[in-house]
Amino acid sequence: MSCAYPFLVIVLISSIYGVFLADNLLPQIHALSGKDPEEDYFYQPGKTEVVLVFVTFHLLFSLLISCFVLASQSGPGYIPTENEQDRTKWREGDFVPRYMTKMEDNLVKEIISDLNYPGMATPKIKELLRRIPVVERKKKYGDHRHCGSCNQYKPDRTHHCRVCDRCILRMDHHCPWISNCVGFRNYKYFLLLLFYATCCTGFVLGGMFRRLIYAFRPIINTADFLLEDLPVVIVWLISLFLFVALCMFLSFHINLTLSAMSTIELREKKNNDDPFVVHRFKVAHIKYDRGWYSNLVHVLGPTWTWFLPIFPGGDGTYSTYNALSYDEYRKVKPTIATVLCPCFEGKPELNKPGAASSYGAEGEAKAMLSA
Ligand SMILES: [Zn+2]
Ligand SMILES: [Zn+2]
Repeated sequence: MSCAYPFLVIVLISSIYGVFLADNLLPQIHALSGKDPEEDYFYQPGKTEVVLVFVTFHLLFSLLISCFVLASQSGPGYIPTENEQDRTKWREGDFVPRYMTKMEDNLVKEIISDLNYPGMATPKIKELLRRIPVVERKKKYGDHRHCGSCNQYKPDRTHHCRVCDRCILRMDHHCPWISNCVGFRNYKYFLLLLFYATCCTGFVLGGMFRRLIYAFRPIINTADFLLEDLPVVIVWLISLFLFVALCMFLSFHINLTLSAMSTIELREKKNNDDPFVVHRFKVAHIKYDRGWYSNLVHVLGPTWTWFLPIFPGGDGTYSTYNALSYDEYRKVKPTIATVLCPCFEGKPELNKPGAASSYGAEGEAKAMLSA
């Protein structure tokens, strides 16, 4: 069953490509050589146009195939466990004592339990939420989200996929058409797959339109009609249906990307009936939403790579403390300190990443309590 949908996609892609090539592009190229003037019965574009259409279509088509292979074959992004630090971080929830203070932890709990919070989202609070490694919490008691099946803590935006039976970073949805999860690592390929599929079907609709009209001439030879004209009509109609569906799906995902949302976040969180779920999503969303352009760059990478199937980078855990150097960390700390508690200032070394060897998780907790 899991292979049935991708198989159908491959059959569809090859049929559309085959008919467009055999019944439209090749006869046009053939007619250009002037070898068979009888073939020159339908609209025959000039040489430049034929070459341009042929080259552009094949460029778009090869990008479509690359994106299909990459989206379906590459891993959607799993919780990092390559090194010991990552393992302890996500298996034992080490990010709580090492990368967050008790006060930050408590502040998040307070914010997510206060339904009126978004109204008082000051720039300082927003900055704070963006710096906290894990903001999303369980619905009950505000505990950190933990996956029982994978026995790991979940980074923000991570969800457990029941089909893959694994936690997927920034999971969007499980896509049966590519028989793969769409998550942090392959979302760009998926988005480009939609884009190039829309371009290619649009190309087929435009490029084969005159051939389609020609197919409705009076039938003289039934065999010719069945073998050459009927496939053109069928493929053109399928392409029309696909083009409309793809346009809708693509604009849906472009909107999601611009507003830094995944399908799961839109359906299960933003539009939920439970005001607490909606509220907690809005709080967490402050962390991801950096404005439409930055949101695009986050998913697509630097501008020159937007239309190329090149992974934009990042580890997908949305725990920014990891990426901060100690100096950067010190710069942020005063902001957090002012928001939370003036007595915190002057003790940034307590939270220095990697300071666990001298202080340890317990040591830091004790230091925080005594501060
Ligand atoms: Zn899981
Ligand atoms: Zn999945």
